[in-house]
Amino acid sequence: MNLVKPSKPVTGRVVANELCMNGKSSSFVKHLTIDVSDTPLAGTFRAGQSFGVITPGKDEKGKPHKVRLYSLACPTWGEDGAGNVLSTTPKRLLDEHRPQRRGDDSDNHRLFLGVCSNYLCDLNAGDEVSLSGPNSKRFLLPVDPDDHDYLFLATGTGIAPYRGMLEELLNAPGGPCKSQIHLVMGTPYTSDLLYHDYFEVLATQHDNFHYHTAISREPLPDGRRGRYIDSLLEDKLNEFTPLLAGSRTLIYVCGLAGMQLGLFKFLARHDLDGDYCERRKPLDGLAPEVWTPEQIKRGIHPTGRCMLEVY
Ligand code: FAD
Ligand code: NAP
Repeated sequence: MNLVKPSKPVTGRVVANELCMNGKSSSFVKHLTIDVSDTPLAGTFRAGQSFGVITPGKDEKGKPHKVRLYSLACPTWGEDGAGNVLSTTPKRLLDEHRPQRRGDDSDNHRLFLGVCSNYLCDLNAGDEVSLSGPNSKRFLLPVDPDDHDYLFLATGTGIAPYRGMLEELLNAPGGPCKSQIHLVMGTPYTSDLLYHDYFEVLATQHDNFHYHTAISREPLPDGRRGRYIDSLLEDKLNEFTPLLAGSRTLIYVCGLAGMQLGLFKFLARHDLDGDYCERRKPLDGLAPEVWTPEQIKRGIHPTGRCMLEVY
């Protein structure tokens, strides 16, 4: 980890930068590939880690922009098979200005553009980009992938690490992993699904890989408004109970912080949480249905079988 510090970044060169969405949408998410040959990043990153990007120029205080982290979307051997080309899944942060701190102008509702995400999404093939990393050790695949089954949960760009992990598990040079692998991807609309064709093809090629989508803003056939990932787990309880009750299953959770609440409530409701987290004080004696995000933060302690990367 941290072979390249943000204060002394290395230079990568953009190979390609293309939309990776399933259709027309008000969001813009890219699959960005960057050549890091001849830098300490080459051959040293692992699927599930992230890396840093330092945007050129200065912030509003005249200081260099702070590093932003982006999840690797490639396997450990990179996009090129040799660990020289990494990839990620940047989403343009586009919004209207909203007051963030006391004293902010509440009448300012001009366009708000995130600095680094828009810088990355604007890049063209051949452009140089300053990088640091690799970062984090909590979201890696196990040393012996065949010893485990997997539940991968994603919201939005939280899908990035799973693209790399699934490539690593299912298209490994030594042959595909035979474990049970379920991926649940949550997005607002079907058109927002990321790498959808890739996952669909994987699911047709590998009987042990199951791809589920939870679309939050499109009505379901039974008339409900749509569903979050935890509602999908609930709806498919018969399919997920044996997986979650298994002694070798690992859960990975990546994306919006809010997604934890529904997941832990779901697990607790069905008495499936014991292997994945410890419940502590603020939750003592409370029914899962009344847990709050704040209580979860203090009261749920994931075990080594539950990996969280949520922000
Ligand atoms: P910034 O310029 O930093 O703006 C964001 C900040 O501005 C917010 O923190 C908030 O304080 C403020 N803000 C936000 N909205 C408004 C508003 N409407 N009005 C006023 N202020 C506002 N992102 C990806 O797209 N893909 C990834 O793969 C990815 N991986 C990540 C991995 C990790 C480990 C982490 C920690 C984050 C990851 N992110 C990823 C998020 C990424 O690091 C950036 O936070 C994100 O791209 C936004 O950065 P930015 O520079 O564009 O926005
Ligand atoms: P998005 O496309 O808006 O999709 C998010 C989906 O999750 C939507 O369908 C949303 O539904 C749903 N959702 C909202 N609240 C939820 C909840 N409490 N439980 C379950 N689902 C919920 O997502 P995005 O804009 O890409 O955002 C992804 C987030 O992941 C960002 O915050 C990013 O920083 C983070 N991220 C983290 C990492 C990492 O840590 N490694 C990597 C990549 C991304 P509605 O909008 O309809 O309510």
